[in-house]
Amino acid sequence: MKAKTVLITGASRGIGRACAAQFAREGHRVIINYKSSRAQAEALAQELKQEGAYARAYCADVADAAQVRDMFSWIAAEFGGVDVLVNNAGVACTKMFCDVEESDWDAVFDVNVKGMYRCTRLALPYMVHKKNGSIVNISSIWGICGASCEVAYSASKAAVIGFTKALAQEVGPSGIRVNCVAPGVIGTDMNHALDKEDIAALEEQTPLGRLGTADEVAAAVCFLAGEQAGFITGQVLSPNGGFVI
Ligand code: NAP
Repeated sequence: MKAKTVLITGASRGIGRACAAQFAREGHRVIINYKSSRAQAEALAQELKQEGAYARAYCADVADAAQVRDMFSWIAAEFGGVDVLVNNAGVACTKMFCDVEESDWDAVFDVNVKGMYRCTRLALPYMVHKKNGSIVNISSIWGICGASCEVAYSASKAAVIGFTKALAQEVGPSGIRVNCVAPGVIGTDMNHALDKEDIAALEEQTPLGRLGTADEVAAAVCFLAGEQAGFITGQVLSPNGGFVI
């Protein structure tokens, strides 16, 4: 397959990191976006380079419009643009709804929804020009079925699904596919606040009897981004062990 330029937001850790590694191992050029975890992002880029891949780490807070603009200016200068965009950067907010302050709500939406909006707006002109491109947005099962004490997060992840379906219809005629991956509970830092009992309860609710791995989510992302999924757009693929059917 022809090497593509792939930008993965929030790729220093967890699911984004697994996506970057998988795209790189498939022979694509990867841009590992991160906000704070510089050492982890640089170490990943180094590891992938040693395997013969093209990988660069780039620091930009997707909640900051100017930093996102600078990142896309750099990408335009280096590569022309991105062929694949994975909007993965995300933050959680676990609180009773009545404790969710407006600042909490804004912080979640600024990353999970507006970060996706900002990156997608700047990625699209190049894709439209090439009449080709693929966008994969990371939602969550909580965006499908909702989770108690995660109202802001669930609402933001439902917005990711609406965004995906609407944009897929708008840019399909330009040869651009837009899809969504809505993972179940995955063993990453995002869930490190869960105690043993919470984890056991989640495993029990999952027909496959365990949490998912970041690599299993990355496999779904790479499938949707790639040519095998050439006739798939506007869809939500949910690697969730049967938690939500
Ligand atoms: P994670 O381990 O907490 O990693 C989050 C990543 O996002 C980090 O690389 C972090 O970078 C980056 N990030 C956070 N805020 C950012 C910002 N403002 N700008 C740029 N990067 C930012 O989380 P994860 O579990 O891999 O989650 C990845 C995505 O999957 C998220 O969208 C999440 O909502 C979704 N998801 C996760 C689960 C799960 O169970 N883990 C389930 C469903 C969906 P720095 O460390 O550099 O700040």
